[in-house]
Amino acid sequence: MTSFIDLRSDTVTRPTPGMRRAMAEAEVGDDVYAEDPAVRALEERTAELFGHEAALFVPSGTMGNQIGMRLVCEPGQEVLCDADAHVVTYEMGAAAAVFGISTRTVVSAGGRLDADQLVAQVRPRDDWHLTATAAVAVENSHNRGGGLVQPLEELQRLWDRSREGGFAVHLDGARVWNAHVASGVPLSTYGRLADTASVCFSKGLGTPVGSVLVASAERIATARLWRKRLGGGMRQVGVLAAACTYALDHHLPRLGEDHEHARLLAKRLGVDPATVETNMVVLDGVNAPVVAEAAKAEGVLVSRVSARRIRLVTHLDVDRAAVERAGDVLAALLDR
Ligand SMILES: *Cc1c(COP(=O)(O)O)cnc(C)c1O
Repeated sequence: MTSFIDLRSDTVTRPTPGMRRAMAEAEVGDDVYAEDPAVRALEERTAELFGHEAALFVPSGTMGNQIGMRLVCEPGQEVLCDADAHVVTYEMGAAAAVFGISTRTVVSAGGRLDADQLVAQVRPRDDWHLTATAAVAVENSHNRGGGLVQPLEELQRLWDRSREGGFAVHLDGARVWNAHVASGVPLSTYGRLADTASVCFSKGLGTPVGSVLVASAERIATARLWRKRLGGGMRQVGVLAAACTYALDHHLPRLGEDHEHARLLAKRLGVDPATVETNMVVLDGVNAPVVAEAAKAEGVLVSRVSARRIRLVTHLDVDRAAVERAGDVLAALLDR
């Protein structure tokens, strides 16, 4: 076992003993036949949490996002999103490479959704000259935006304008749990403001794998075909779904702790606390490779976002003592 304090990402968590027990005890079946009780229970519960008719368990957030966007966008049409969105930054061009979907990006202020700015870029479906904008994708919380929570008024405005404008809204809710805990906005409200939404259990919720796509029953039936087509049909995968259900019961309620730890780190490192809305702290204007190497030598792992930016992410596997220790190490390095 290593003794590193790993602040690179909230994906580095390991399943807890309680989660492993839940996995071992899961009642399972063949999920390609839709006969895995643990998967079905998770899908039903997640659909209900977000106020949607149906849900589909998928292996990754990338698959959830890409199938979600494909459900509301035909090949040759476009999805509009923020230039720093995960769907266009970290998903290997899947929309184009796999689905023939065009993406167009708008540079936002640090990932913060500005509905009017996006809507102004939407192109109609009935013009012979223009690539039709079928959907807008929104990320909440925003990863490259340092975990910022999208303002509810902007989400509502985008939704209202989408109903008038005839385009769909896809939510990349990989960390929507963090947004919900930080803002107090119900998950069902976030769900109500999207046609399709992908949510992850392998980030702050601490499972080894697993995402769920929610949408209408009709769309989820189509999503099931796409999942199989992409090689994402899985068999007795209730062992993984059980981890997700366990996470909803035991890890969702504790996410606020991660947020508190992030604020603690920010305070220790002189970062403006207003920039810390969830579980991420961004250090700007630092010599990222040098700080990252030096921190590693002292047992603290951090993420280099760019040459001048470092990201710290708090999670289930860093307790308060570890956060304080990491704060001391990094504060000393930044003072040099
Ligand atoms: C992690 C993440 C995803 C999904 O990533 P996978 O590694 O495919 O599970 C999607 N969106 C955001 C914002 C993320 O941070």
